[in-house]
Amino acid sequence: MLLFSRRVSRVLAAVSVHSKFATPPGGIKMSTKAHSDSQEATKKLRDAGLLLSRALIGDKWCEAFDGRTITVSNPATGEFLADVPFMGRKETELAITVANEAFPVWSQKTTAERSKLLRNWFDLLIEHKEELGRLMTLEQGKPLKEAIGEIVYAAGFVELYAEEAKRIYGEIIPAATHDKRLIVLRQPVGVVGAITPWNFPLAMITRKVAPALAAGCTIIVKPSEFTPLSAVAAAKLALQAGIPPGVLNIVIGDAPQIGGALLESTKVRKITFTGSTQVGKKLMEGSAATVKKVSLELGGNAPCIIFDDANIEVAVRGALAAKYRNSGQTCVCINRILVQDGIYEEFAKAFAQAVSGLHVGNGLEEGVTQGPLINPAAVAKVVSHVEDAVAKGARVLVGGKTHSLGRTFYEPTVLADTTPDMKIFCEEVFGPVAPLFRFKDEKEAVRLANDTHFGLASYVFTENISRAWRVAEALEYGMVGLNEGLISTEVAPFGGVKQSGLGREGSKYGLDEYLEMKYVCFGNMASS
Ligand code: ADP
Repeated sequence: MLLFSRRVSRVLAAVSVHSKFATPPGGIKMSTKAHSDSQEATKKLRDAGLLLSRALIGDKWCEAFDGRTITVSNPATGEFLADVPFMGRKETELAITVANEAFPVWSQKTTAERSKLLRNWFDLLIEHKEELGRLMTLEQGKPLKEAIGEIVYAAGFVELYAEEAKRIYGEIIPAATHDKRLIVLRQPVGVVGAITPWNFPLAMITRKVAPALAAGCTIIVKPSEFTPLSAVAAAKLALQAGIPPGVLNIVIGDAPQIGGALLESTKVRKITFTGSTQVGKKLMEGSAATVKKVSLELGGNAPCIIFDDANIEVAVRGALAAKYRNSGQTCVCINRILVQDGIYEEFAKAFAQAVSGLHVGNGLEEGVTQGPLINPAAVAKVVSHVEDAVAKGARVLVGGKTHSLGRTFYEPTVLADTTPDMKIFCEEVFGPVAPLFRFKDEKEAVRLANDTHFGLASYVFTENISRAWRVAEALEYGMVGLNEGLISTEVAPFGGVKQSGLGREGSKYGLDEYLEMKYVCFGNMASS
């Protein structure tokens, strides 16, 4: 057990802890079945001790110092899930102090010890994947099967970095003179501040926390205020796994205040962020004052190029998976489908037919493949993109309007005859809308695909191996899926170029983001 300074212990003791649950607000239309599914799921989670409505600083489950809270609700039904603390600068400063005090002990553990504790955490995440998946569906909306898939994916980062922890090697560099020995040590960066979004409430956290902890860093995580419950539940399991208090802290609340405290602190040596390009730029700018190491995983505008020589069935399946996963709310979701003239009509017909088979609804219901969007603002953005496209001549092949389930639901949509002057060509729609652009030849396809400030994921469908190779090389993107729509895996480097970000997450490379090199020069070694 880690010992905190007296000052920290005093402040933590002053933080009151209580739990509060309310009945869902009235006035929201939902079926009796949806209501009872949600009620049953929340009860199971409470019984399992995984529906926690507090932040974690050290080993204390905390409220905001001034008692302010923010409500987390189910995007599918509008039902109340929990009131969580709305923290700010002061609580974040406390979390930084606690993480800083935990750093010497954690960083000096052997890699084998850190590896073992991460492995314990992985085991607990997998053991509770069903409950954690339910919790994720409740707060984020994605279908249960997809949510459980995310838990397994998220746990995969913990398992991977439990293994990679053992391979944090140094190096010996041959010296140019006999009297010197040159050594490179790899050491943890220090205290890390992590800010994460709502679209992957757990995977975006573990892909930061696991390598940070493996490297020997301690961390303060600010999850999205829309989806903090998965983060808190996972943090509880981390404590249960034996990860010492103070190593992983969760603060929830006022994003600019929390971000500001992390940026200004000289103790925080690294900022890692997943979210919008706009906020990422602010964090990069804010990191300059104390010259922090920065990793950014920002927006995308993913193209999917379908050539005349593509296997239509493979292309439809791949595009469907890459576009409609999480109802189109991922930064690697296809934003633009570029289809070659010769295959355009045939692809459009087959794709529209596949999209019309998607099943929209509450993610807890059996057979649902498309959940709600995160909130009504997200729906409003989709509506504005579709209206803009239709006003400029796009044809609606499927969908094209808000779903009859109302509020946060939008129909899976396919638009044909879209053109680069439409908003959807340049901006991420972040919803279930697939626009089909037309192109003549390979050169035009590559030009259109690269005609964006972003460069995260891209997809290509062709049966021609030389074309596949050529186009993959020409695309200005951090990731390319060739005849494949699902490319994310913990064992491969995930990240973007241009305004899509800096650094890589996952794989052995993801660990480098949390390590500094130290060069040690032994001199006067020749004389006896
Ligand atoms: P999205 O549009 O996907 O929600 P954001 O970039 O707005 O993307 O949010 C991603 C994360 O960044 C969330 O945790 C959010 O609370 C946080 N965030 C938003 N604004 C700021 C800010 N000014 N400083 C620090 N974090 C922020």
